[in-house]
Amino acid sequence: MARYTDEQCRICRREGQKLFLKGSRCYSDKCSISRRNYAPGQHGQKRAKLSEYGTQLREKQKTKSYYGVGEKQFRGYFQMASNKKGVTGDNLLESRLDNVVYRLGFGASRAQARQLVNHGQFAVNGKKVDIPSYLVKAGDVITVRENKKENGAIKANIEANSARPVPAWLELN
Ligand code: SF4
Repeated sequence: MARYTDEQCRICRREGQKLFLKGSRCYSDKCSISRRNYAPGQHGQKRAKLSEYGTQLREKQKTKSYYGVGEKQFRGYFQMASNKKGVTGDNLLESRLDNVVYRLGFGASRAQARQLVNHGQFAVNGKKVDIPSYLVKAGDVITVRENKKENGAIKANIEANSARPVPAWLELN
């Protein structure tokens, strides 16, 4: 799978808004959007007027970057979401396990949450799940696995993110 390996802050600067890709740095003065709020590159400071297509393209790229998924995966989610009832945008991506772990405050960023899931730190309904794209269903119980409860990174994140609001569709215990 293709993976973006360049500086994360460039993505925010391209989109002209904070996408919170780097954990605590995003809430500090070091955030690149606070310091250089213009697109990266030689011509970054020239703001071209976007066409209708350009606007839609930027919105799609922004969503992909926000959730850390590639083009092909995103297309799959869109297909799945558009086949479901309800507003297509509402069904997209939020139920990925890495996103849920981030939303619960176990990860400082979605990228870190993804790594924690990959390393087998979490269980869904008592069973180890190490696939970040695993889709969580209503009523599922996500726990830190018994032998991983002493993980320093998770403990530090829970403490640091205690003020971050948990969305109404999740319950943190
Ligand atoms: Fe984006 Fe965070 Fe970098 Fe700021 S610090 S530009 S919010 S990734």
